[in-house]
Formats: sequence, structure tokens, C-alpha cells
Amino acid sequence: EATISKIAAGEIIENPASIVKELVENSIDAGADNILIEIRGESTDFIKVSDNGSGFSEEDLNIAFLRHSTSKLEKIEDLEKIRTLGFRGEALASISNISKIKLMTKREEDLAGNSLVIENGKIIKKNKIGMPKGTTFVITDVFYNTPVRKKFLRKDLTEINNIIDTVQKIALSNNNIKFTLIKDGKTILNTGSDKDPINRIFSILGSEIASSLNEGSFESENYKIKGFFSDNKTFRSNRDSQYIFVNGRFIKNINISRAVEKKYHSLIPLNRYPVFVLYIDIDPKLIDVNIHPKKNEIKISNENILNAILTEIVEEVIYPNRS
Ligand code: ADP
Ligand code: MG
Repeated sequence: EATISKIAAGEIIENPASIVKELVENSIDAGADNILIEIRGESTDFIKVSDNGSGFSEEDLNIAFLRHSTSKLEKIEDLEKIRTLGFRGEALASISNISKIKLMTKREEDLAGNSLVIENGKIIKKNKIGMPKGTTFVITDVFYNTPVRKKFLRKDLTEINNIIDTVQKIALSNNNIKFTLIKDGKTILNTGSDKDPINRIFSILGSEIASSLNEGSFESENYKIKGFFSDNKTFRSNRDSQYIFVNGRFIKNINISRAVEKKYHSLIPLNRYPVFVLYIDIDPKLIDVNIHPKKNEIKISNENILNAILTEIVEEVIYPNRS
């Protein structure tokens, strides 16, 4: 059973970045509007996520690290539901099987908070503590008991960059939440509380990208689209700076990328890529979720319509004087 838990954990927790993703998404689910992520040393050494969300009740604490029954993903009809219900009850159980956890948490209505130590999926220490409302997780020694999984990790720099990338994407898609990311005492990202999308992009992707962006939008019954597209002088050598969010979730979709790039291609060589941040809200009925939700890929029905809309928006944005 211990072995099975570790194998199952490996499917949800592929790398340190997936720990960050699961913890930060839990903080968002807990209603936090201020989330601090701190990492130290190697990617597997130390990950801390602090939030000012609801905190755990005693009851939550007693069951949070137990593996619940496997969620039936095929039965979930829309992306919204996958976002909050996917892997229900699996993340903390998995993390607690492959790393060491310290957890501090307090609800508004409780006088004292709780401080816990969890190892091998079990609470081994529990004390009352004073603290403000919210939750702090400290994860250390990731994959310490699964050396094979640890060996499968990429170069540490790659894993650290995965963590940064994960936080950037979550911060870009949650404008109402303040995010701070600290690495070895140095602030890597600080969104502030500013909710303006361009200011947020500035704080996450930097001034060069942010100052090159032009805004375009479109709205109909089925689609609500807002995009920020680089001007015809700011390009990259790959698609890593193309951010596509569908219903608040980061996705990769080559057809959407190509639809946007099409209008630039009269201006730029084919091996250069525009930068863009694209928010697409779409009727969930038009999304096919038969694809594994961890893969960041979705199928959109009537993709041609969406792509035609995108082509139009880009045309207006990069050739504003034409029509
Ligand atoms: P899920 O998010 O799918 O419910 P998790 O294993 O990620 O499963 O979390 C288990 C439970 O622990 C959550 O349902 C929630 O009750 C509680 N929890 C986790 N993180 C937090 C947090 N940051 N603040 C408050 N409660 C949390
Ligand atoms: Mg969760």
C-alpha cells in the first residue's frame, strides 16, 4: 500500500513545480488574495506557500492527507468543474507521500491555529499556535523516499524555471490576487495588488514585453476575448512567451498560436514568434475535455470560428490604420 501510494503520487506530482501548482491552487480555492511562494536551494529542498485564505478546520485537517476515492474525470463535463474538482483530495495526500510537510493554519473564527508535521501521509505532530488567519505549507525533501523519481527530474535550473513559469502563469490568470515569489531571499516576482492587466503583465513579464503590447478584444454570445499582442518589432525565437488562458486556465494550443501568428507572418520571418497574452472566455459546451487535464491541452469545437476572430483582432491591433 505504501508503494502504491508513492507510485500514484508520482502521477500527480511529477516535479517540484507541480507541488507549487497544487498548493497555490488550493490557496486560491481557499479565497486568498495574497499568496507568497518562497523557494530555497535546489528545487527539491524547500518550497513554502503562505496564504491569507480561509484556513483549515479541525475536521479538514484530519482528512486532508487521506487519499480519497479516485475522481471520475470522464464524468466531469466542463472545464470549470475540472479546475476545482480535478484530482479531488489527491494533491495533499500525494505530496505527503513523497516529501516532508510542515503546515500552519488558522481560521478567522478560531482562537488558536494548528501547527502540524506530516510524514509518509501521517500527522506525526500537532500543536496549537498563535498566527493570523491563513495557511502556510513548508515542503522539504521532495522525493526523498523515491530516489527513482528524483533521478527523473531535469537539470535543477530547469526545475527551478518550471516553478517560476508555473507561478507566472497562475499570476497572469488571477489578476485579483497578489503574488510574490522569492528565491533564496531574492524577490523574483511581485505583482503588487494592482488589478490592471497591463501593470500585471509588466510586473510578471517585464517592461520590454509589456511596453510592446497592444490590446484588442472581441465579444459575442459564445466568446469573450481580450488579448495583448506584441508590436511588429518584438519577437522571440520560440513560443514560450505566448500565454493562452481559456476560462482562466493556461493552455497550449498550436492552432490558436498559428491563427495569431498568421497576421504577423507578412512582417516577420517564420522562425520568429510574436509575444502575446490572450484571455479567452468560451462557453464550456464548446470545449472538449476528453484530454487529460494535466496536459494543458484542450479541444475547442468550431475552432475555425475562434481562429477567424483571433485573426481579425490581430489585424486590427497590428495594422491599426488600415481599415
Ligand atoms: P482538493 O483541492 O482537490 O480538495 P487537496 O488534496 O489539494 O484536494 O486538498 C485537500 C483539502 O485540504 C482541500 O479540499 C481543503 O479542504 C484543504 N486545503 C488545502 N489547502 C488549503 C489551504 N491553503 N487553505 C485552506 N484549506 C486548504
Ligand atoms: Mg487541490
